[in-house]
Amino acid sequence: MDLVEDVLKVSKYIFERNLVLGKAGNVSGRRRENGEDLIAITPTLKSLNRLRQEDLVLTNIDGDVLTSGVPSSELETHLAIYREREDVNGIVHTHSPYATGFSFSNMNLKRLEGFGKIEREHIKKIPYKIPGSHELAKHASIAIKNEDVLILENHGVVAIGSTVEEAGDLAEFVEGTAKTQFISNLLETRNLGV
Ligand SMILES: [Zn+2]
Repeated sequence: MDLVEDVLKVSKYIFERNLVLGKAGNVSGRRRENGEDLIAITPTLKSLNRLRQEDLVLTNIDGDVLTSGVPSSELETHLAIYREREDVNGIVHTHSPYATGFSFSNMNLKRLEGFGKIEREHIKKIPYKIPGSHELAKHASIAIKNEDVLILENHGVVAIGSTVEEAGDLAEFVEGTAKTQFISNLLETRNLGV
């Protein structure tokens, strides 16, 4: 199944790029079948590096689980975003180290060259909500209305795309730009001391 293959491929890709560590992070994709949304999401508490087709969990847009397995604890956030954004068919959530480092700081991440059509100075950051909570789902889905990526305060990153691959590419790009800004901030700090 293409949907499952896409989610598996992006899960492995983001693991190999060190965007997710251990058993953290989750990926989903959506496909419309006979007017109904079918969601494939990574399971809870399994490394994204070693997933097999049968590990992925299929649900409908209401979150009814259609296969065996337990979906990611962030399923509700994924579903809320799909409901809010008809144009989105892929969601990637990471705790990628540099971007997540910024999420724990009071510094915003700039949208540097290469982000595409949304023109804003900074990536939107939303206030801390408990991971996996209904509150997080509600806040993230409202905040992402006119965004393609969110920083979750003290937590991580949510990137969306018209495909799972696009969401994965964006999550990777966000981490790259966080790394650049970390280095640049460090160099600036050091210069002040010279
Ligand atoms: Zn998380």
